[in-house]
Amino acid sequence: MNTHTLELFHEYYEKLVDAMTRTGGFDADTIRYCLAEICKLFGICKGVTVYYNSPLHEKQGKGEVLIPYDNGIEGKVALHKRIVNPNVTVIDCTVYIPVDAPDLEDDVIAKLDLAIRTVLMFISRNRLQTFVERTTFYDNSGYPNLNSFTRYMNSLSENNRLTGYTVARFNLRHFSLINREIGRMCGDIAIQNYFNCFKTVIADKGIVCRLGGDNFIMAFETSLMDDVTAILEGVPVVYDINDSKRVMINATAGIFTLPDDFKYNGVSDVMDTLLYCANIARNDDSRSIVSFDNDLLISKEKVMQVQHYFPKALKEHEFLVYYQPKIDIETGKLSGAEALCRWQKDGRIIPPSEFIPVLESSNDICKLDFYMLDIVCSDIRRWLDEGINVARISVNLSRKHMMDVDLLNHILRIIDKHNVPHKYIEIELTETTTDVGFTDLKRVVNGLQQAGIYTSVDDFGIGYSSLNLIREIPWNVLKIDKSFLPVEEDSESSSRSIMFKYVVAMARELGLECIAEGVEYANQVDVLIKNQCLFAQGYLFDKPLPLEEFEKRLHNHIYKIDRKKDK
Ligand code: C2E
Ligand code: CA
Ligand code: CA
Repeated sequence: MNTHTLELFHEYYEKLVDAMTRTGGFDADTIRYCLAEICKLFGICKGVTVYYNSPLHEKQGKGEVLIPYDNGIEGKVALHKRIVNPNVTVIDCTVYIPVDAPDLEDDVIAKLDLAIRTVLMFISRNRLQTFVERTTFYDNSGYPNLNSFTRYMNSLSENNRLTGYTVARFNLRHFSLINREIGRMCGDIAIQNYFNCFKTVIADKGIVCRLGGDNFIMAFETSLMDDVTAILEGVPVVYDINDSKRVMINATAGIFTLPDDFKYNGVSDVMDTLLYCANIARNDDSRSIVSFDNDLLISKEKVMQVQHYFPKALKEHEFLVYYQPKIDIETGKLSGAEALCRWQKDGRIIPPSEFIPVLESSNDICKLDFYMLDIVCSDIRRWLDEGINVARISVNLSRKHMMDVDLLNHILRIIDKHNVPHKYIEIELTETTTDVGFTDLKRVVNGLQQAGIYTSVDDFGIGYSSLNLIREIPWNVLKIDKSFLPVEEDSESSSRSIMFKYVVAMARELGLECIAEGVEYANQVDVLIKNQCLFAQGYLFDKPLPLEEFEKRLHNHIYKIDRKKDK
């Protein structure tokens, strides 16, 4: 090899190394150019690299072929290299010279060897990076994942570009139903196409990532808000390969527009806020998109306080049982009572509306319910021991218990610990919307029945009352919600009066005891009597009472049933 060729080789080689190691990404054009020049320099007509993901793939001939240089002249093999990397990928490289050319000299082979090794190292490092990138930042289905979102947010923050961005977390509505309807495979196509709708609208002005299942998270320039919310509110998407069938997909979402003074301490703050809003959106039938604002900030802080103080409050007996009497309106006698929770905190009584929904968002509510049952049982035991006339006491059980296969045992353990006859306990449960919920509810009620514990459907009439619910589950009591109870303005032919009449009639027909909740006016008692709904609970008779007050009612108290006068 003459000195000029050697000098030229070094020149291209240095350029090559520089192009491969440049910070901010390699320069493919220069790499290709240098390789071609080196080939020309040594009279090479073609270079072929085959990349295999594993030795097995090599055996099966499943490789990816790269041809960095080919001048079209037919060639013979001049040099062949095979490299197995530590991560067991295999790279195979072959250099061809024209058929009639003499064999390469040793010093040329040595230089070529150097260039090939350098390039192969580069390819293999690059492949590894791509692989790591793919598994770290994308999920198995190829959607960008939470790491992608985190990287995107961090980079916005580092470049002081968070202002003007909105983040959102969304969950597809009824997607399990859609999956069932159109099949999983089509469901996947539908998700992909729905995802693509966001991607198209957002393009390079944000990012959409999948958190798993049908949960997604995204960041986008706030100017795109209208377009994004339009997709969240529902768009028809294609779900079959022939592009012909479409299904409507919409989502519930939590949205947070980053304020100008937003302090970014990492992605978890943003995630917390979004999860908080998204959960409200998911559980609130009246709105599917919940944006984070000042009101929410205040309530979020309240939520965090409740969650924070709950364990200590439970341990220190800050939760009190109030008893609201249930009245037999034919006799005016107390027929039972409902145990309702109050939180006595720093000398103030906090109503359940301020903490029950928070506790419902975790399993804390279950702890509280068991605590309430425990106190109720100990009160009943004491009344029995003191020879006081005991009424049946009902305890509310959150739907959160339904998944608990040991629920019945847990309840029985508490009741039996206090040696309370089962007939004194009633469990109030609310209705359900899902099939799974229905099966669980049926199992629980059946179990309670067999143990001789009363069960009642709470809040009947609001939500999704289904006739199956009362036909197929052996309840003892139907508690008609106060929104179903006719009020003074309602005439006998009003829909509320008619529905009330038939619901009571149906319950009686099915052998269920019927109680009206929220009775506030004397004329409502008339309606109850006329319709043979014989039990009532409400402010007209008593509000939920603290223990000592309620105990007075246990001493043969008779309520005056005055049908004329209002409250
Ligand atoms: P709920 O089970 O439907 O309880 C009846 C609610 O209606 C009680 O509210 C009661 O004070 C109120 N009420 C009774 N009579 C009247 C009336 O004449 N007019 C009006 N406007 N309201 C009346 P409270 O005690 O604030 O409880 C609210 C809800 O909190 C309960 O509704 C129940 O869902 C939940 N809750 C209370 N204690 C517990 C508990 O220990 N465990 C569980 N899981 N939930 C509980
Ligand atoms: Ca109740
Ligand atoms: Ca109720």
